[in-house]
Amino acid sequence: MEPPLLFTPGPTWVRPEVLAEMSRPAIRHRGAEAQALIGEVAKLFGRILGSSQQILLSTSSATGLMEAAVRNCVRRRCLCLSCGAFGKRWMEIVESCGKTAIGLEVEWGKAIRPEAVAEALERGDVDAVTLVHNETSTGVANPLREISAVVGRYPDVLLLVDVVSSLGGMPVAVDELGTDVCLASVQKALALPAGFSLCSVSEAALQRSRSMAEKGFYFDFVRMQEAARKSQSLTTPSTAHLFAIRKQLQFLFSEGLDVRHRRHRRMAQRVREWAGARMELFAETGFESDTVTCIRTTGGIDATEFCGALESEGFRIAPGYGKLKKRTFRIGHMGDHSLQAVDSLLEAADRILAGKKGNAS
Ligand SMILES: *Cc1c(COP(=O)(O)O)cnc(C)c1O
Repeated sequence: MEPPLLFTPGPTWVRPEVLAEMSRPAIRHRGAEAQALIGEVAKLFGRILGSSQQILLSTSSATGLMEAAVRNCVRRRCLCLSCGAFGKRWMEIVESCGKTAIGLEVEWGKAIRPEAVAEALERGDVDAVTLVHNETSTGVANPLREISAVVGRYPDVLLLVDVVSSLGGMPVAVDELGTDVCLASVQKALALPAGFSLCSVSEAALQRSRSMAEKGFYFDFVRMQEAARKSQSLTTPSTAHLFAIRKQLQFLFSEGLDVRHRRHRRMAQRVREWAGARMELFAETGFESDTVTCIRTTGGIDATEFCGALESEGFRIAPGYGKLKKRTFRIGHMGDHSLQAVDSLLEAADRILAGKKGNAS
């Protein structure tokens, strides 16, 4: 049997040509070929991020870089903006690194408001702020530009941003935003196999890192940057990923970044229209994500059962995250999916809903 088509908000469907790159013979990671590969991949990621800052590559998932951001950039106290599970993860990381997390938490499904961030910074005495751009657990896209502008009024406060599930599907413009660490993994809208991540680090973040003690070795931004400057990797990278990334970014730029973002917006609109007419959108109006939609079931439909039924139709979506598991499900319309594929998913969903009505009457 064919594996189900992935509409999960990570991991996402990977093109066979890209998967095939993972099985190339290994190359020496200190050689000229690896150097060229690392240099090219970093440059292309810089373009997607809209960043002229230093790009660091990491053979880890994005959570590794979240922890790195905290260890390199948070001295004592960090304002953690949270509207869902991944915002909460930043808080846990800050605390588990022995620093103080000041939570600014809003109800799941709502977005974080720049005014609230301004107030919190006014009360302040924090040396960094963490933010999740696109909260994958709730399908909320936070106002990144506005929040960045507020944090930008405090030059000593570093802004650490998770763009894990937006990068490659929604615009992120590091140079305009002025983020200090902007990080993502590759298994979401970039549509690559999991196990690799990247970030853009500002001069201020590197400066902060230089003054930090006990930040560890593997994720030390200063050591990573010294290697990256020479298009090298501090430790052995997954060269299999580097091959696959190079290939995938060629596909990405041949589609064009703007076209890709527009495609994501169209897929999102289609899913939102479908969901709005049949169930309820979980995200606050005006702050819906273009890569993932979280839908609250109505009429006694069990979200887990619904996901199971879709799986039998050949589509895998995701149940709600954590505490939302029973009442919501999520469709990840991200990566390399087409509008037609989204339509076939929604048609299958409609067949299931029609069947349920049929059973009830
Ligand atoms: C998936 C996800 C993460 C975690 O990424 P890993 O690569 O699994 O570490 C963090 N933040 C957001 C918003 C995500 O969607």
